[in-house]
Amino acid sequence: MSDIIQLLPDHVANQIAAGEVVQRPASVVKELLENAIDAESSQIQLIVKEAGKVLLQVIDNGKGMSLTDARLSFERHATSKIKSAEDLFAINTKGFRGEALASIAAVAHVEMRTKQSDSDVGTCIKIEGSQVVSQEPCVTSKGTFLSVKNLFYNIPARRNFLKSDAVEMRHIIDEFQRVALAHPQIGFQLTHNDSNLFNLPASNHRQRIVNILGAKTNERLVPVEEDTDVVKISGFVGKPDYARRTRGEQFFFVNNRFIKSPYLHHAIVSAFEGLLRDKAHPSYFLYLDVDPKTIDINIHPTKTEIKFEDEHTLYAMLKSVTKHSLGQFSIAPLLDFDRDAELDTPYSYKEKHVSIPKIDVDRNFNPFQQQSQVVTPQRAHVTQRSNASWEALYVNGKDDAETLKSQAIEFESEEVTGDLFEAETLEHQTTSFQIHRKYIISTIKSGLLVVNQHHAHTRVLYEELLKNITMSSAVSQQLLFPLELEFTTREMALITELKESLEHTGFVFENIEAEKITVSGIPTIINESEIHQLLQRLISDLDMEVPDHHFSRNDTLAKSMAKSMAVKSGTVMPIEAQQQLLNQLFACKEPTVTPDNHKVFVTLNGNDLDNKFI
Ligand code: ADP
Ligand code: MG
Repeated sequence: MSDIIQLLPDHVANQIAAGEVVQRPASVVKELLENAIDAESSQIQLIVKEAGKVLLQVIDNGKGMSLTDARLSFERHATSKIKSAEDLFAINTKGFRGEALASIAAVAHVEMRTKQSDSDVGTCIKIEGSQVVSQEPCVTSKGTFLSVKNLFYNIPARRNFLKSDAVEMRHIIDEFQRVALAHPQIGFQLTHNDSNLFNLPASNHRQRIVNILGAKTNERLVPVEEDTDVVKISGFVGKPDYARRTRGEQFFFVNNRFIKSPYLHHAIVSAFEGLLRDKAHPSYFLYLDVDPKTIDINIHPTKTEIKFEDEHTLYAMLKSVTKHSLGQFSIAPLLDFDRDAELDTPYSYKEKHVSIPKIDVDRNFNPFQQQSQVVTPQRAHVTQRSNASWEALYVNGKDDAETLKSQAIEFESEEVTGDLFEAETLEHQTTSFQIHRKYIISTIKSGLLVVNQHHAHTRVLYEELLKNITMSSAVSQQLLFPLELEFTTREMALITELKESLEHTGFVFENIEAEKITVSGIPTIINESEIHQLLQRLISDLDMEVPDHHFSRNDTLAKSMAKSMAVKSGTVMPIEAQQQLLNQLFACKEPTVTPDNHKVFVTLNGNDLDNKFI
């Protein structure tokens, strides 16, 4: 048989290699920015058209390249940054593989103009799909200009795989921010479709963070500083009371390189232990300087993960330094620990004067007497007023509701559909009450019904919102004074993406700018004071990937909004509200579970009760 193995032609090999290096426009951004930094530039400009699908351009004022180097830079494994295998253990540059330019040029139309400071003329090279189209001397300023057009023009499958412009742009902004945060001494600019998104003058770490994340960030930063033989740690952590639901603001840089490390992340999170509200994420911007010999940056092709020689020591140090800083700025003692976010004072009440609560005790109240009586509407009124006494019944059995929940038998839907309530009972008599400000208890033909109020309301709102979004039928309440809300550039990209769906739920956006939106109308079922929180939560729920599919995006939107808007545990519900909620719940298509698949209610039938008294 004849031989069948042959070497792949260069352009094919490059295209295959490109698959590793260039996954999306943001990967090109990362490589080009890093090259500009390695070239010792002091000013770097990034210009993007249509989220990088049409154009990505990086202009630097770095050291440039000679004619020969310019041509060589596009060859695979061509690098000026390492010479031998030993150099791999002392890497001080961002790049070292010599693959990026070759890979990018294999899958796009690339033009490079470059000039060193001591030359009079520069070099201009055009390459398309690894083929050099032209190379000639040209007039250009010191440094390198690199433009990448029509990314993946020759790999349609890849191109089609790209996400919407908003999503791709968010990835680009992420990369840009990481690089810019790592190098505050370099000035950066980012322009997208002719609008200027970032203009970051050369500065220090603190100013850079503030320039990227907004002026309000300044007061939230707590400095972290420690210099040891193993590592030099500097940077900032966010004050715990500003911790947000989005996980976005968490940055580790090792030797000025952004890295991801779930292990070190854990060190920070554990330093914050007890200081954060439920589900809040601490922000941090931490810069670690270590001896390059003690790390291995080679383990991940896109180089966001690295291996440390002594991870355990690093962990312990990070944790204790962070704790120390939080303590030193006397943040720890100011906070109440382990509080339930759902019991927080609603925003609109924060400024109000606090008065001593008046307790209205119904001294004639006798729970046993009441239980034996038929509950009439007037009687219900009494029940409501004497909530305190009702609760007194549970003082020693705090966990009753929990017990009830766990012991209750799974609800069989076919058994009770249609006529879950004894029809007239619900209409004419009041047979529900609230316990623990969390559960609504009611009776059904077969026995007892225990409804989780937050879950039930989430289900009701979810179905209503989904209907509104798909049928664009929501009503909105006009705000007397439009609300101005600030978001980071990254968050704004997401809100813009969701604008249309949000409008279907009742939002009216008057103006959307770079970092600010003006809201003039909101869904009728929500309070003005909750809008910012609601949008914030939405952003965190949709964070990395906005589902491209229309239905699943609307679904996520409805789910997230329903969760934010639903009545919280800890809220006292008047009897009418309880009744309304129960009616709405059982009018739902799927009343048994929340959109996240949590149980909405449990039932206890006569047998269950009988069994308890054996
Ligand atoms: P690497 O960065 O891993 O060396 P690249 O393919 O990114 O590989 O770049 C190849 C070489 O081209 C670099 O080693 C560097 O010498 C040169 N180069 C690339 N971009 C620039 C730039 N903006 N300014 C100066 N030299 C550059
Ligand atoms: Mg490089």
